[in-house]
Amino acid sequence: MNSIIYNFEKIKNLIDNNKTNIIAVSKSFQYDYIKPLVDYGHRHFGENKVQEATNKWTKVREQIPEINLHMIGRLQSNKAKEAIKLFDYIHSLDSLKLASLLAKFEQSLKLKRKYFIQVNIGNEKQKSGIKIEELDEFYNYCTKILQLNVVGLMAIPPVSENAGKYFKLLMELNQSLCLAESSLGMSDDFKDALKYKSTFLRIGSAIFGKRS
Ligand SMILES: *Cc1c(COP(=O)(O)O)cnc(C)c1O
Repeated sequence: MNSIIYNFEKIKNLIDNNKTNIIAVSKSFQYDYIKPLVDYGHRHFGENKVQEATNKWTKVREQIPEINLHMIGRLQSNKAKEAIKLFDYIHSLDSLKLASLLAKFEQSLKLKRKYFIQVNIGNEKQKSGIKIEELDEFYNYCTKILQLNVVGLMAIPPVSENAGKYFKLLMELNQSLCLAESSLGMSDDFKDALKYKSTFLRIGSAIFGKRS
């Protein structure tokens, strides 16, 4: 068995509920390398650079329209339009400026996408994301004024800390906004995210191996 499929199945077998999806984070890998997982039938893939993702996935998606592409990296304003064209989900909605631009391009391109608001869950200076105390207001603005389809919250907990307490906090925020989806957990901490039944895990190296 191909090692990618083997790794993927091993992770999938740890999922003990029917709500959790794996986003296979294929950033930095060439399509030929990822292809076995596409051929295997997996349909959720994550990327963090718009240009790289466009080059890698545009043709594939024309052939397999069921593939869902997730933008999980920071999205710069000047890439917002291209991102809207390609990605089904954007996990890094993290500023008013970006939200307004995305809404504008949704209108002009006649597209609707799904969004996760990225929350700066550990209140870290160097991390992007909406502050917890500003989340309600930001959520209301995005959904009521801009009409963006916000489906859930996303967070990356502080490194080298127990991720569980941050996942718990994020799930509480998710519930307070009555949001159905959540985007939590990476290769090193997805087992913690599973305890909270996150609906999306974003897993790269544990499936595809180390990135160079
Ligand atoms: C790269 C990345 C991942 C996947 O990281 P791994 O540790 O390789 O699983 C998940 N989320 C975000 C936001 C990323 O940038």
